[in-house]
Parts: sequence; C-alpha cells; structure tokens
Amino acid sequence: KRTEVPAEVHGIDPSLVDHRAVDVVRTLKDAGFEAYIVGGAVRDLLLGLNPKDFDVATNATPEQVKGLFRRAFIIGKRFRIVHVVYGHGKESDVIEVSTFRAFLDNSAAEQVSGNEKTSRRALAGVQHAVDASGRVLRDNVWGPQDEDATRRDFTLNAMYYDPETQIVVDYHHGIEDAKKKLLRMIGDPATRYREDPVRIIRAVRFAAKLGDLGFALELKTAAPLVQSQALLADVPQSRMFDEVLKLLQTGHALATIDQLHKLGLSQGIYPLLDVVVERADTDFVHAALSDTDRRVREGKPVAPSFLLACVLWEDVRAGWNRRMQSGELPLPALYEAIDDTLDQRIGDISGRGKLAADMREIWVMQPRFEKRTGRVPDSMVAQLRFRAGFDFLWLRAEVGEVDEALAEWWQEYSTADEQRRYDLLEQAR
Ligand code: ATP
Ligand code: MG
Repeated sequence: KRTEVPAEVHGIDPSLVDHRAVDVVRTLKDAGFEAYIVGGAVRDLLLGLNPKDFDVATNATPEQVKGLFRRAFIIGKRFRIVHVVYGHGKESDVIEVSTFRAFLDNSAAEQVSGNEKTSRRALAGVQHAVDASGRVLRDNVWGPQDEDATRRDFTLNAMYYDPETQIVVDYHHGIEDAKKKLLRMIGDPATRYREDPVRIIRAVRFAAKLGDLGFALELKTAAPLVQSQALLADVPQSRMFDEVLKLLQTGHALATIDQLHKLGLSQGIYPLLDVVVERADTDFVHAALSDTDRRVREGKPVAPSFLLACVLWEDVRAGWNRRMQSGELPLPALYEAIDDTLDQRIGDISGRGKLAADMREIWVMQPRFEKRTGRVPDSMVAQLRFRAGFDFLWLRAEVGEVDEALAEWWQEYSTADEQRRYDLLEQAR
C-alpha cells in the first residue's frame, strides 16, 4: 500500500520548497520524529506550481511540536494544530504543523459512542465526535501515517514529501492520478461528502484551480455532488462564508463559475455565491472577477472586501436611487442602502465587522470622487483605503458607469506633486 517514490520519478524541483518548511521538518526529524511536507504543497510541487503555503505532518503531538520551536502556538479546537512562526511583522510566515490523525469511519465512531472497548476507542469517543448525520465534529485522535493519508480528501492531497531524502510517500496512487490528470476522492465519495460537506466545495475549487492544466474530477467523485449539495445546509455559516471566499480567490474565479454550472451546482450552495453566479455575466462583476484572477496570478494581494463590494454594488446603487427618489438626501440615502445591503446579503456571520467596514469605505468614496474641489481630493488621496476606492472607480469607468476621464484624473492626481495638483484642480473646475 505504501509506496516510496524517488525524485527521478516525481521530478519535484527542490528549489520550489520553502526553506522554513525544510527547517521545521529537519528540527522534528532531529528530535526523533517522523515529519513530511504534506497536502496541497506536495500537490502543487508535483504539478510544478508554486505552493502558496506549506503544511507539515508529523507523529509528534502538538505539545511535543510546540516544545521544539521558539515561536510556536497550538491553535484550534475542532482540529488542533501548531503554528510555527518565522520572521516578523509583514514578513512573518507560518508553517502549519499537524499531527498524524487516525482515520475513523462512521461505524468506528458509532461503536465509540456505544460500547467503549479498547482504550483507543475510549479515547476516540472524546476526541472524535460524529453527529447523527455522520458529520465529523471533532478530529483529534492521533494515528499512524497511513490512516492520516486515508482521512484526507483527494488522492493528490494525500502525499508526503521528505525534503531531505526527496522521497514522496504515496498511499492512494496520487502520483498515478497526477499523470492521469484525475481528481479522485479517497474512499467512497458520497460517504466522504456526508462526513464533511465542505468537501463538495473543495471539489469545485480544485476542479477550477487545476482545470487549465487539464485536470478533471473523476466521474465517481463528481457523480454524488448534486445529491450531496443539501448537506451543506448544516455547515456553520462562518465556515461556509470562508470556503466561499476561498473559492473566489484561487486565481480561477471565472473558471469556478464555469465549474459550478458544469457540475450542476450553480445555485443553492450559499446565498452570496448564488448572487456571484447570477451576476458573473454582467460587465461589472465579470470585470471584477477577472481582475481578481489576474491579481492572484500576479501574486498581488486581493481583498475579499473589494470583490464583494463589486458583487453587491448593484444592490447598493438600486437602494440608493430608490431612497433618493423618495426624497432622501444623497448621503443618508447611500448609508442606509449600504446598511440594508450588508444585512440582507452578508448577514450576521462572525468576523464580518472589518470586512463590512472596508466595503462601506469603498462605496462611500464613490460619490466623493465626483467632488474635485478644495481639500476633498487631498483628503481622499491621504485615506488609508484610497487605493481600493480608486480601483473600484477604475472598474466602474471600464464598464462605462462613470467617465474614463474622471478615473484618469484621479490616477494623475494621486501621483502628482503639489504644483501639478494645483493645475489639476484648476482644470477640473
Ligand atoms: P490550498 O492550496 O488551497 O491551500 P490545500 O490542499 O493545501 O489547498 P488546505 O485547506 O490548506 O488545502 O488543507 C491542507 C490539506 O488538508 C489538504 O491538502 C488535505 O489533505 C487536507 N484537508 C483539508 N481539508 C480537508 C477536508 N475537508 N477533508 C479531508 N481532508 C482535508
Ligand atoms: Mg494549503
């Protein structure tokens, strides 16, 4: 079952491997533990892509891992892992270290909650919890590497790479599937979607991300997706929201929309995603999605607030106009339209505070771009979020919602010296 694949066969380029991940693996191995780079990073390395983050898997417990590094923090409850931190401030980077976990299918878990026989099963009752529908609520039972591989989602995501020996450990024909360009769920797909319905969204995400390399979901993996979709109703809203944002920020948002249509999942995954899908063909949202894709691919940062501000701009504009027509003053009308939109479309998920504040700022800047007199432009340009507001204006100009000359004026003003700014103000009169 376990195969060790040498460098000549898998062809991973060691220079693509993050030196901090190598350091974590070496430290763990020096202390006598097993340790490997795992998951998405191995998949990306194998395909010649640049992994966006590196995860390490080990047989050391979180406490043992923490003890080996100066700056390491145990995080998570449902799924305990260790964050090993390198560098400082903006330059800082985190390597996630997880302990090999046991694979407990539902029957094992049911046995646990019924008759507790062995000590491992008894422990599992506390550390591995499954609800009535078969969803995994807690997953903190340590186990051997082969079980850790089996509980992962896709065969491509279940390989282990030792950066020192350059060996890939593969239990589920991941290397073979990579050659066949197949996204294959480990085990029985329908059961795996029931255990964790978020895997449905992950299937769409990887199909979109790897689609242009020629990858597709295996038929058996794709077949139960539609019938499993309803299971997503039980996933906590905050987790759904995070997954949906990930789906839109892979650098393949437009491909994701295509995949959703192809797989028959274009409606009903999540209300906000429905809105994105419905509007993906409008000039403005299409421009926003393709702009986001380009930025991700260029390695530039993308803010979910920007994309969502684009997607929901239609609602804000409609509410704003309606209120002005019924006699409200422009600014109060805008603020109220924004509140309505955020309540209706985003709702009360945790962590929405900052996101909503950023979206609000982008929207509120828009009418101010029309006021090119006095000190308004200087204070606009000095604003922390000017860039986001300006990028938004630029997109609006691109689709003909405002004059292109207006966007160009702000482009010039924001980079001009004092004298030039004076001239630009005169010219705008
Ligand atoms: P990305 O490049 O988008 O980060 P990834 O594969 O690294 O993709 P993560 O969410 O970072 O995805 O998860 C890391 C690894 O953990 C996955 O490669 C997979 O092996 C495992 N994993 C993550 N989520 C699940 C899940 N819901 N079910 C099973 N395994 C999972
Ligand atoms: Mg990852």
